[in-house]
Amino acid sequence: MSSRCPTCVACGGCVPKSKPNLEKIREEVGIKSFHNLKEEVIERDLCSMCRGCVTFCSASTLEAIAILKGKPDYINEKNCLKCGICYAICPRTSSLENSLREKYNYSLPIGSYKSVYSLRSKDLQIQEVATDGGFVTGFLKYLIDEKIIDGALISRREGIMNNQPMLAMSFKYLLKGAGSSLTVSSSLEDLNIYTTYIPSLLMLKGLGEFPTRIAVVGTPCQITTIRKMQLLKIVPSNIVNFTIGLFCYENFQFTEDGKSFLEDKISAKISEIEKINVKDSMIIKLSNGKRVTIDLDELHEIVRPECLPCLDFANWTADVSVGGLGSQDGYTTVLARTNQAKSFVERSIERDYFEENSTFDKNEALEKIKSMAVKKRNKGLKRLEELGLDIKEFG
Ligand SMILES: Cc1cc2nc3c(=O)[nH]c(=O)nc-3n(C[C@H](O)[C@H](O)[C@H](O)COP(=O)(O)OP(=O)(O)OC[C@H]3O[C@@H](n4cnc5c(N)ncnc54)[C@H](O)[C@@H]3O)c2cc1C
Ligand code: SF4
Ligand code: SF4
Ligand code: SF4
Repeated sequence: MSSRCPTCVACGGCVPKSKPNLEKIREEVGIKSFHNLKEEVIERDLCSMCRGCVTFCSASTLEAIAILKGKPDYINEKNCLKCGICYAICPRTSSLENSLREKYNYSLPIGSYKSVYSLRSKDLQIQEVATDGGFVTGFLKYLIDEKIIDGALISRREGIMNNQPMLAMSFKYLLKGAGSSLTVSSSLEDLNIYTTYIPSLLMLKGLGEFPTRIAVVGTPCQITTIRKMQLLKIVPSNIVNFTIGLFCYENFQFTEDGKSFLEDKISAKISEIEKINVKDSMIIKLSNGKRVTIDLDELHEIVRPECLPCLDFANWTADVSVGGLGSQDGYTTVLARTNQAKSFVERSIERDYFEENSTFDKNEALEKIKSMAVKKRNKGLKRLEELGLDIKEFG
């Protein structure tokens, strides 16, 4: 039965056959449940709020856990099946870390890669709205055109205060997401706080029921959760055919005080922000055309607290990692991490989707990316020490 059957004949071929590899969970994680996740991650202020645990909980129909007061918690503890899946897939536990490192050939500070590029989409519609060089949107278009994927999990741009995850199955919808990278998005479910973090994993949940192959664009915490799910064969990670990992130094959140803080920094109202980008500083473009650059070290007050203990900048488990850092304005820096990713990127260049920046200095770009990765790692380790944790636990 083809996994791309276009019509329902009720043969059942589309129903995912893979079951979570519970033996592997027991072998690598031992018997741990949400109780341990609460104790070791959530109550120690280590949760990244990726929402992986609540989204993929085996007892989700029984409503065992949910986000309460901005954090995952039990709502019906007796309904927890103690399967250990939430603990195993959490990007903030050390479970499966060795398997991930082996599989993705980890090395400090940015992981392994086959080649590095600085690319700009040749499509003018993409260029107009892209965050940097429009690589992400252009490359997703290439993957769809070549039938390597059926669609992509991205985020929909609906004004500065409203971004939501979306499955884009065509260029029209990819364009709706382009450039949305750091606009302020959905508020935390039960707190009225706006954040730049987009909870993409929530959208992935329902997709396992469809015979689809998708690419996912995400931050390091989101891609790590998906990679852990793939190691354990947890549906719907089986439909994720390609991952585009965003570089990520930190995300931001805006309480009323946070909003005033940023407005003071930019001498303008948040509603006047047209675009926010982060490379090694925050670059804000205002609707009057003015550009304001703010050093990231000056933004401590509005950093999303969940990002403080985070150690991964370069998204080392992704197939390709991307960011503006290392490229001149209007280009995206792309690390292709596997031979397959490298061949896709090179074919997309040959087929005229992108132009390479002829003045790009790979070594200089890599130095910048490594230095940012080290800076983030040191910042994260410092935070872990502040929390009274033994940093040796975190590799
Ligand atoms: C939260 C965040 C932090 C970042 N931090 C850095 C940094 O510190 N340094 C750096 O160099 N680069 C950083 N980047 C990456 C950078 O901002 C650009 O996203 C990247 O260079 C790709 O640009 P592009 O023009 O190729 O992408 P575009 O063609 O503009 O496309 C971006 C695509 O990503 C999708 N997308 C963006 N965010 C998400 C998300 N969270 N979940 C799902 N889809 C998403 C959009 O919908 C769109 O499809 C960050 C991005 C994000 C979202
Ligand atoms: S980091 Fe993600 S998976 Fe881990 S506890 Fe927080 S929301 Fe759950
Ligand atoms: S049922 Fe499994 S995934 Fe859900 S909370 Fe309990 S241990 Fe975690
Ligand atoms: S810094 Fe980025 S990867 Fe780390 S927790 Fe925050 S959003 Fe996730």
